[in-house]
Amino acid sequence: MRTRSLGPLRASLSSVLALTLVLPFGTGCRAQAAAPRPSATASRPDAGRAGAAKPTLVLFLTIDQFGSDYFERYGGNFSGGLRRLRDEGALWMRGRHDHAIAETAPGHASTMSGRFPVHTGIASNSQGVNTNEAPLLGSTDVGASPFRFLGTTLFDWMRAVDPATRALSVSRKDRGAILPIGRAKTDVYWYASNGVFTTSTYYREALPAWVSAFNARQLPLLFAGKSWTPLLPDDRYAEPDSNPLEASGRDYVFPHRMALGRDTVFRDIRDTPWMDSLTLAFALEGLRHLELGASAARTDLLAVSLSATDAVGHKYGPDSKEIHDQLLRLDRYLGAFLDSVFALRGASNVLIALTADHGVAPYPELRSPYYRNHDAQRVDARNAWRTAFAAMRAAGVDTAAVENDDGFRVRDAEAFRRAGVDPDAIAGIWVRELRRLNGVLRADLLRDLARADTVHDAIARRWLHMLPVDGPVRAVVTPEPFAYWQGVTYATHGLPHDHDTQVPVLFWGPGIPAGRRAGDARVVDMAPTLAARLGITPLERLDGRVLPLAP
Ligand SMILES: [Zn+2]
Repeated sequence: MRTRSLGPLRASLSSVLALTLVLPFGTGCRAQAAAPRPSATASRPDAGRAGAAKPTLVLFLTIDQFGSDYFERYGGNFSGGLRRLRDEGALWMRGRHDHAIAETAPGHASTMSGRFPVHTGIASNSQGVNTNEAPLLGSTDVGASPFRFLGTTLFDWMRAVDPATRALSVSRKDRGAILPIGRAKTDVYWYASNGVFTTSTYYREALPAWVSAFNARQLPLLFAGKSWTPLLPDDRYAEPDSNPLEASGRDYVFPHRMALGRDTVFRDIRDTPWMDSLTLAFALEGLRHLELGASAARTDLLAVSLSATDAVGHKYGPDSKEIHDQLLRLDRYLGAFLDSVFALRGASNVLIALTADHGVAPYPELRSPYYRNHDAQRVDARNAWRTAFAAMRAAGVDTAAVENDDGFRVRDAEAFRRAGVDPDAIAGIWVRELRRLNGVLRADLLRDLARADTVHDAIARRWLHMLPVDGPVRAVVTPEPFAYWQGVTYATHGLPHDHDTQVPVLFWGPGIPAGRRAGDARVVDMAPTLAARLGITPLERLDGRVLPLAP
């Protein structure tokens, strides 16, 4: 039975999600009967099956702005996919991005490449995927492609062994969809501000029929005028709902009502939990149409980056009742999604990996019950720039030759050459001024970091994993843990400290024993670990190593 009608879905938002995810795909009745129930005490998915065969589907999940602590903090309230993966998977709570700029683009580029940003070429969001050279299909948002991405990813390695291997990558964000796959021209889609899933001309000339059909359903409009209210009774939330630091002091208390206008709904749904349900519904539609994981003869790849957590986290902060509720809703959406995938493809054929692109820090003005941020302050770097600019003018170098992007970035090296000035001499002045500021842990020339003891000096190591020593960024600044830059009005992340870099590293699948793993794991270890699991060989030298999945 195939159920395509959306009429009854308007009854309630929870049924929207359940029905959108579970019913319209495949043979509903048989699928429902076969779906394993999410349960904390469920036995291994492959229990009873002799000799787990090679998976037909690798599902790589990235939750944007999901620090490891979120797995524990709301644990009692999880009952869906997050709970299932946490309780049944091999989980390193001390997973980490061992690089400095803990942002979406470098984080996603590391997930399936097994390499640090210094080797993927993706060091920050601002130096990420956006380009006018690759316009979008059906949207006037800025174009995007992997034009900066260097090297290969897990999908390239899978395809080298079996050219029939298929991949689909889906996200709310362009960079979240593009970078896990690297340069491969395959099915890569993200959400655009006009309410459609799009791709760019880098990948194809026109949207495939199944994407256009999905877009034509205009699912975001189901949420027009709806209110986001807490999922559970009030006594299940420890967080106060009355903090005016959240959402810049506007609309910071539940319920949060969605506007009625179409264009506003298309845009604003991106900052609600419902965005994750749309992303998962689209991913499932793609899985079905592309027949991912449907053939025992090959292994396919489905990458899903869920970024409503990042949007809600930026807007309301990691201490908010809203982020708690976002994660409870994501947990339920993910549970329904996994049930559907398992119903369609069989749980014993699916290998799952889950991580995050970065964590987050609370507002410095908030004395957080969850983070040790009680000394946090804001840092104003403008004086350091003024002093550096004055030195440039005195030396006859146009100040437009540098910019504040990832650090002290030289935009026009020729301007320095013409004036006979060493850029590092000016960068050194910038470093000296920053070191005088309260809230700054350290500031360094890249060439000095290159001589650091990278075994014991984690900050130096993370910067060297981020930026080439001979690149345009000549110096970098590291604020104290939990510090914010002056003028940032939302909750944020991006520092080389644990609160921003510590993320879960999790594997779930046939033959992988459940339980917590002590010790450290790095996100760059995930791709080589999956490759080993699939019995394939990476096509280049990696930064990551194979993690032992057995405890
Ligand atoms: Zn973010």
